[in-house]
Amino acid sequence: MRLSCLHIRRFSPHVHPGLLRRNLLTLAIETSCDDTSVAIIERQKINNKLVAVVHFHEKITSDSKLYGGVHPIIAHESHQKNLAPLISRALQALPLKGAKQDDEENRPSHGVYLKNSKNIDGDWEICRKKPDFITVTRGPGMRANLITGMDTAKGLAVAWQIPLLGVNHMQAHALTPRMTYAIQRAHDSETPDLKFPFLTLLVSGGHTMLVHSKGLCQHEVLANTADIAVGDMIDKCARDIIPDDVLKSSKSVMYGPMLEEFAFHDWKAEKEHHESNKPTTTWSITPPLRNILPSDAQKYSALFSFSGIGSAVKRITSQNPTMDKTERQLLARATMRVAFEHLASRVIIALKTEELSATENLVVSGGVASNKYLLRVLRTALDANRHESVKLVFPPLEYCTDNAAMIAWAGMELFDAGYRSSLDIMALKNWAIDPSAKDGGILGVDGWLNVNSNGSCQEPDP
Ligand code: AMP
Ligand code: ZN
Repeated sequence: MRLSCLHIRRFSPHVHPGLLRRNLLTLAIETSCDDTSVAIIERQKINNKLVAVVHFHEKITSDSKLYGGVHPIIAHESHQKNLAPLISRALQALPLKGAKQDDEENRPSHGVYLKNSKNIDGDWEICRKKPDFITVTRGPGMRANLITGMDTAKGLAVAWQIPLLGVNHMQAHALTPRMTYAIQRAHDSETPDLKFPFLTLLVSGGHTMLVHSKGLCQHEVLANTADIAVGDMIDKCARDIIPDDVLKSSKSVMYGPMLEEFAFHDWKAEKEHHESNKPTTTWSITPPLRNILPSDAQKYSALFSFSGIGSAVKRITSQNPTMDKTERQLLARATMRVAFEHLASRVIIALKTEELSATENLVVSGGVASNKYLLRVLRTALDANRHESVKLVFPPLEYCTDNAAMIAWAGMELFDAGYRSSLDIMALKNWAIDPSAKDGGILGVDGWLNVNSNGSCQEPDP
């Protein structure tokens, strides 16, 4: 009988930094909210340029949205149920190892097999590369959900005797466009790097943030929501605005895209109809944080607020139950316009400061970034304020909603800079990305191991 061999790594505090590595392979797990996601990403250095190859990337979202929002228990159970099968599928996508082939006659027709590599059931075992390290979301997020991912990640790291990296979910969101540029480079080698610094407007169901990313671990939060996230508000308003029959007949199960579709589908015809019949709207939505004292202006410029828009829409629809479809479309448009102009207002305020006046890129990510009207409102606001040179970057949607690929990429960048996590790290419900925050931001928490001999970690080239 063949004896299986397990290589046990001796612990060394001075591992060689990843800077020397040409290729890096990681398996990443994301379970911070209601998406169970697993990715296998390989980062290659080709002609001194970083290229990212996605070998596997899948997610399963719990159907807790039926409860009018993420249901913590349903989401937790969904992670427990789906994570292991997802990882098992992901392993089938690990790149093949370039091992010597043997036993040509009996070898199955695809893949690379090692001599005598039959498993206990007598099946041929294919030989695949082992990841260089495991990446997992450590926080912020729902603690129980994070723990499901982290425990699995620790198990894999221990079993495979490879390092573990527990990364900050929000940092991963902020670094996403650097990954999408690296993925793009696999098809077009001329794709440039997205260099630090850049601005990110993160607009999703759980977050609304304007972030100034100056380096791998240096992300200054310029504005954050004082109440609910913009996506959450849009979801709530969609249920109030869209007529029941349209809601029921919609192919989408997401309220945000439904509201956009309802507001703009066949808009030209509806607009003509509307103008010829001239219905007068008796309602209006006041822009958030409009009536503030000049002495409070600076404080409020660091805040978004969306709950007032949600309340206004609820009031308008309940006071006008007979509102026809055209007027509801107008209300849908007005809701989005007021919300998106509010987002734009904080960007414009930020760009007025000296430090940010030379900003070249504004990244827009999160589920709401898929809204075409948001792109129009932002472009109009930038141009009207003489920021025509600011480029709007919208990463592909699959990478800007919650996903494990972005976690993998954050792991790559951190690994390269010499960071590892200790195996005793705990999930963090709250974890800031801004170094000036109370917890010290990304590097302020316990559990980081420095692998460079001088004890420091290195920021990557901008
Ligand atoms: P995320 O939290 O990043 O997974 O994104 C989900 C959020 O984005 C939900 O609140 C969605 O309703 C919202 N969303 C997705 N697509 C759109 C869209 N086209 N317009 C407005 N909101 C959207
Ligand atoms: Zn997120």
